[in-house]
Amino acid sequence: MTAVLIDGKARALALRESVAAGVREFVAAHGRAPGLTVVLVGDDPASAVYVRNKGAATLAAGMVSAEHRLPAHVPEAALLALVAALNNDPAVDGILVQMPLPRHIDSDKVIAAIDPAKDVDGFHPVNAGRLATGLPGLVPCTPTGCLLLIEEILGDISGMEALVIGRSNIVGKPMAALLTAKSATVTLAHSRTRDLAAHVARADILVAAVGVPHLVKGEWVRTGACVIDVGMNRIALPDGKTRLTGDVEFEAAAVRAGWITPVPGGVGPMTIACLLANTLKAAWARSI
Ligand code: NAP
Repeated sequence: MTAVLIDGKARALALRESVAAGVREFVAAHGRAPGLTVVLVGDDPASAVYVRNKGAATLAAGMVSAEHRLPAHVPEAALLALVAALNNDPAVDGILVQMPLPRHIDSDKVIAAIDPAKDVDGFHPVNAGRLATGLPGLVPCTPTGCLLLIEEILGDISGMEALVIGRSNIVGKPMAALLTAKSATVTLAHSRTRDLAAHVARADILVAAVGVPHLVKGEWVRTGACVIDVGMNRIALPDGKTRLTGDVEFEAAAVRAGWITPVPGGVGPMTIACLLANTLKAAWARSI
């Protein structure tokens, strides 16, 4: 391996410490701590783990953490009523409805019901539009975390070739917008892209957010590239156990890349740290 391993855990810890310091300032100024409320519908075990981790991180940063658990069969109207109540609760600065939602609930409708000022996931169309047009707003956590890692390594990225693979609203599209805002030359690839290998070979910065294990072959990676692997894929091992792996062939890519994130321990910890940062930002913005 020649690439430098990007330590997302250490970077996330530093960010969480700076958020905790910001929370202490907020408490001193307003006599209350910022509050993040998470809504979990159903009993998907992976979602339950995410929600538990988010709650623990929120408390560790000195914020108020609340959780609403609703049964999988909850009517859409009841979920929308809960969101409306949280919108109107002055103690709630951030609202996060854990995705995915059960099929009978329209996720877009629920996201659109959240007050954009409390939309700490940054998924609301108002916040997406603000990002697209260069206005301040709440930006999705995972791409924000990726950009922090990229800028810490590369500094000024203007003029660099950046390839984002995946065009979801939660990772790929906002990632492309953030890189564009930093004046990188951005290509956004997806399942219809022809000759992905040729695009990867040109990229100084590669962000893979697909959900297909080892889609990006190590031999495609440009020498010295900064490789950010957002993919979180659980694969079965021959002994019956499972492990998490990314969208990039890690070992083969690490031979060519300049820097690379591991999975796990790369982007994942940054996502939660950026959620805390967004909650603090929302609290300050609401208190002005
Ligand atoms: P998603 O909504 O399923 O989007 C996947 C994207 O990949 C789509 O745009 C799709 O293209 C594209 N794609 C699929 N097959 C492809 C192929 N063969 N070549 C090129 N592009 C292809 O996924 P997501 O929510 O963005 O998540 C992506 C991955 O990131 C998942 O593994 C997820 O678990 C992980 N993730 C990690 C974090 C974290 O904190 N670390 C956070 C969020 C997500 P089309 O649009 O053409 O279908």
